[in-house]
Amino acid sequence: MGALDAVVWAREHLMDVTPLRRDCGRTCGAACCRSDEDGQGGMLLFPGEEALYDPLPAGFEITRDDAVMPGMNLLTCAGSCLREQRPLACRMFPLTPVLAPEDGRERLRVRVDPRAFAVCPLSEYGVRGMDGAFGRAVLESARMLCQYEEHRAYFRALTAYFKRLRTW
Ligand code: SF4
Ligand code: SF4
Repeated sequence: MGALDAVVWAREHLMDVTPLRRDCGRTCGAACCRSDEDGQGGMLLFPGEEALYDPLPAGFEITRDDAVMPGMNLLTCAGSCLREQRPLACRMFPLTPVLAPEDGRERLRVRVDPRAFAVCPLSEYGVRGMDGAFGRAVLESARMLCQYEEHRAYFRALTAYFKRLRTW
């Protein structure tokens, strides 16, 4: 298995689980699928995930985005998608893996993505406020990804990015 296979595995692992057992998008109007007031939006693809968007399905666009780490790709969408086309970041949202030193060693954790607080009403309840199967599946997916240096580097960069934003 390689780094891209791990992305495919994680996407499949998160195919049928959602933050709540009911459709959480009904109460917020699927806020995470709408662009913000500046027309900004989109989700960063995991390293190598862009290969799964060739050919690019209708309504999607990929642009380079260096905000978290040089050479990353941002997927933007038309606001609705088939579940099988959904990028891994959307399947994990509003959670995210973080990888940071703790007690002298590097530890992987799953947390609410600090960027979700402005969008997602579930964020304030934390991981424990979400369906346990969802939290576990995100953690298991992050562990699988963490076997590959590409993904570990991305998780480290994400963690540093959150620190730069002073949100974590
Ligand atoms: S913003 Fe949060 S509550 Fe709303 S659809 Fe997205 S994940 Fe669910
Ligand atoms: S790709 Fe799908 S799940 Fe992700 S923001 Fe767009 S419509 Fe929502």
